[in-house]
Amino acid sequence: METRIPRRVAGLRGLTRRFGDRAVLDGLDLDIEGGEFIALLGRSGSGKSTLLRALAGLDRDLDGELSVGDSVAVAFQEPRLVPWKRVRANVALGLDVPDAGARADRALEEVGLSERADAWPLTLSGGEAQRASLARALVREPELLLLDEPFSALDALTRITVHQLVLDLWALHRPAVLLVTHDVDEALLLADRVLVLSEGRIAHEYAVTAPRPRHRDHPDLVNLRDRL
Ligand code: ADP
Ligand code: MG
Repeated sequence: METRIPRRVAGLRGLTRRFGDRAVLDGLDLDIEGGEFIALLGRSGSGKSTLLRALAGLDRDLDGELSVGDSVAVAFQEPRLVPWKRVRANVALGLDVPDAGARADRALEEVGLSERADAWPLTLSGGEAQRASLARALVREPELLLLDEPFSALDALTRITVHQLVLDLWALHRPAVLLVTHDVDEALLLADRVLVLSEGRIAHEYAVTAPRPRHRDHPDLVNLRDRL
């Protein structure tokens, strides 16, 4: 019989981040298990990006306990590609392995961007740039993938295709995903667990049990949407 032993990829206890005398994160507790897909909702300025930066190891001015594995990758709202490096080189950037180019090509293939491997970043469309940014995160084979509003700058149609891409990649590699979004529908369609960040803590938490692929009118989602 197969038993799945949950593996914790991140654990936060009493995490606090102050800017001046204001605690943006204020004693926050959170556990992230391997392979789960979490959406983090919260008003603008509630500290979502601050929390992501902490999980990504980009913030040293924290109080409380933070334990995160070393296999973490981040994709931001703006793809932040280096304009003077071609797409493949951007994806391979900082990959310190002999087959970095081949791995970048494989990641680009997975996000459907093989033909653009030799292109300059500034010639990419918004959706292509976001896919390149996803490839750059995936090439690191993260066990925790942090996505900071990666879809919000995309037009509605492109957003739908990139949603599906993220779900496909998640099903294939099964990293834990923490997706920051302010879009309730996006959270409900993609995630297993929806967290609401408010006053510096996880103020609410909801399990999404509707099977994928989900339709936005699924009764479970309608119920949850009413509560959020
Ligand atoms: P969100 O991503 O939820 O919109 P952020 O985490 O970016 O919110 O910011 C939360 C709060 O912390 C905001 O009020 C923001 O102004 C403040 N903040 C974020 N970074 C800094 C910083 N480097 N210096 C001062 N204040 C900051
Ligand atoms: Mg933010």
